Amino acid sequence: MTTVYAVIYGVFGLLIGSFLNVVIFRVPKGESIVSPGSHCPECGHYLRPWELIPVLSYLFLRGRCGKCGTTISWRYPAIELLTGFLFVATYLTRTNRTTPGLIFDLVFVALLIALTFIDMDTFRLPDVLVILVAGIGLINTFITGDPVLWRSLIGALGMGGIFFLVAYFYPEGMGMGDVKFVAALGLYVGFPNIFVAVFLASLLGIFIGGLRMVVYQKELKDPIPFGPFLAGGSLLLLFFQETINHMINF
Ligand SMILES: [Zn+2]
Repeated sequence: MTTVYAVIYGVFGLLIGSFLNVVIFRVPKGESIVSPGSHCPECGHYLRPWELIPVLSYLFLRGRCGKCGTTISWRYPAIELLTGFLFVATYLTRTNRTTPGLIFDLVFVALLIALTFIDMDTFRLPDVLVILVAGIGLINTFITGDPVLWRSLIGALGMGGIFFLVAYFYPEGMGMGDVKFVAALGLYVGFPNIFVAVFLASLLGIFIGGLRMVVYQKELKDPIPFGPFLAGGSLLLLFFQETINHMINF
């Protein structure tokens, strides 16, 4: 049964990933995510239903618009596959969660994917998406009690407070977008887990930053958005939370 469910979550993830592509493309520009329907940015050709099938349509069209032949970025199917993979990982690792808890986790994961790519594209974390993270964080504590409300609030205020001080005294290094985002993450994962998430985010940052310097010869001062690392740290926390909580035994 587990395998059947894993496949269902994976396919569901591919479809949500397709929707996230729209969110990532349109939310930073302040456009509606429902209308107009998906179309080629080059010739305006509206995608036919079969052209909306995640990944497969990209393969059939060999990465080109079906009408004008403009190249479609490989990032679209990559985000669909990533979302499918992360949905399966969520289902397989969050075994302590009730069904409502699992649904909150999937929404949380989807929002993290959207925020990651928007931050990479624009160096911005749109308030509307950060507010949604905070919103499902609060609803989650009330409905599942995991984490309980006081842990959510301490997580949000504690980590948000620390980030606020960093952003206040070192504005070149951290923006208020990161402060709001980490507070929202704190609401969702709670205390002390938010500290684990930020620790994992820092490790990821050091690793990827170092890799970037070696591979691309980039300087340390070249700006690099922190949002994707916060999202990555939170995902690692989510997938390994049961093991981690066992280790730190809070
Ligand atoms: Zn076209």
